[in-house]
Formats: sequence, C-alpha cells, structure tokens
Amino acid sequence: MSVCPWYRDGFCTSPLHEVPTQDVVNKIQCLGGRDVYTQCKYYREPTQVREGGYDEFGKPFLMVHGIDRAPEITCEYVRIFKHEQGKYLAGCVVLGRFLGVHEVDTCSKFWRQCPFRRIGLNLGIQP
Ligand code: SF4
Ligand code: SF4
Repeated sequence: MSVCPWYRDGFCTSPLHEVPTQDVVNKIQCLGGRDVYTQCKYYREPTQVREGGYDEFGKPFLMVHGIDRAPEITCEYVRIFKHEQGKYLAGCVVLGRFLGVHEVDTCSKFWRQCPFRRIGLNLGIQP
C-alpha cells in the first residue's frame, strides 16, 4: 500500500499548510494507498509543483512577504526577488509560493532540516 508523499514521520507536509502538522493526519487515509490519499483535501500532486518565476509564486503581499534586506538562504529551492517598492521577496519552489517573513528566518537557519526541501530532493524537483 503506497503512502502519501506528503506524509513524513507522523506529520502532513502538504504544501497547503504553512508548517507541517499532525492535526490533519489520519493514517487510514495517509497510508491507505494512492486511491485513498489522493481524495484528501490537503493532497496536491507533487508534479504540479512548478518551478518558480515571479508569477509562479502568486501575488505577493508586502505586509506578509516583504523583507527589508536580501535574505541569505542557502537552500537551492529559494528564489529571491526585489520588488519594485524596494522590499525583497523569497519564494520557495517546492511550496510554490512566497515565504512569510518568519518562514524566511526559519529557512535561513534550518534549511538543512526542512521537510519541504527533503521532499523536493526526493521527488527530484528542479531548483
Ligand atoms: S493524505 Fe492528506 S493529510 Fe495525509 S499526508 Fe497526505 S495530504 Fe497530508
Ligand atoms: S528551506 Fe524549505 S521552505 Fe525554505 S526555501 Fe528551502 S525548501 Fe522551501
């Protein structure tokens, strides 16, 4: 029986969550095979995660995503943009969206342990 690709160590790492969570995990569903886990509302086809370009990350909200200085994130899945209003934006290719200010901080420090990065590498998503 195949396991949902977003299931990791008791956590759901679906890109639809801000952070991995145990709250939505239901082992019957998450471990129940493709026919079952693809029915989950948090499921998203990994192949639909696209490479980032500015538009690919959706609409940025500077209050949420705007960073004063260019962030230093070593992760290969981050894309940094300079917004026309002077702020910087960081998008994650695996998540397919811009990162919030606090997430950027977390990515800077803990990118090696990031479950989304692991998923990206496991699935062979191109940085
Ligand atoms: S089945 Fe749903 S809740 Fe479970 S890991 Fe997959 S996306 Fe998350
Ligand atoms: S550390 Fe994780 S969340 Fe941050 S850019 Fe890399 S893959 Fe995305």
